[in-house]
Amino acid sequence: MNWTPADPMVSLKDVHKSFGELKVLNGVSLDVMKGDVICIIGPSGSGKSTLIRCVNALNDIQKGSILVEGQEVNDPNLDKLELRKKVGMVFQQYNLFPHKTALQNVMMAPVRVLKQDKAKAEETARALIRKVRLEGKENAYPGELSGGQQQRVAIARSLAMQPDVILFDEVTAALDPETVGEVLQTIKDLAEDGMTCILVTHEMAFAREVADHIYFTDRGVIVEHGPPETFFKNAQDPRTKEFLSQIL
Ligand code: ADP
Ligand code: MG
Repeated sequence: MNWTPADPMVSLKDVHKSFGELKVLNGVSLDVMKGDVICIIGPSGSGKSTLIRCVNALNDIQKGSILVEGQEVNDPNLDKLELRKKVGMVFQQYNLFPHKTALQNVMMAPVRVLKQDKAKAEETARALIRKVRLEGKENAYPGELSGGQQQRVAIARSLAMQPDVILFDEVTAALDPETVGEVLQTIKDLAEDGMTCILVTHEMAFAREVADHIYFTDRGVIVEHGPPETFFKNAQDPRTKEFLSQIL
């Protein structure tokens, strides 16, 4: 329990997860160090979303271990709220509150959950809106923003909780193609600032450029992994090769 920043920030060991009879994760192990950006890629239904949902205890597991900063996520005594303060998550569906402005959406959790002073939360929220390059849109309602802009508000909302690691689950998959780039740029900015990121993505060019490490999953196992240079050039497993040939 004496976790230090030199230890993995997130560590999965032999994680098994089933939904009833359906085995979805069949012994997944991976480590994420502070400041790392890792990308998880793989066919639809291979367990990518399930895998990252386990990290912030949105899914429980049947076997194995998941440590976040040295704390076992599956400990029944773990305070899930405390865990989710450390582990932010951004989804494909950004789910902003439609009757709140961008600024209010970003401020809400710090005020309600972290009990931050409103003026301080607003100052932080304004800075985060600038950070995701939406200055001037503070008072816009979600319906007045493009999908990419809304997703950037969702990223700012996640950052407002000051997480140590953020999980991104195909956050550009539902966007119009012309707004994908601006969201990827926002994530790239975060990565360059040293934010620890675990991303599920189909954006291979982005993964190649930004990831420190790529994991390819198929049917609940990590088939192959490596730094992007070697992963994309020297994929060995036929399943990886087939996937890459379809997507690249
Ligand atoms: P991916 O994100 O790689 O597309 P998922 O992790 O969403 O894959 O899903 C993996 C498998 O688990 C799929 O067969 C899916 O139908 C199943 N699954 C996911 N969530 C649930 C759930 N809550 N209940 C039952 N089955 C689920
Ligand atoms: Mg998924």
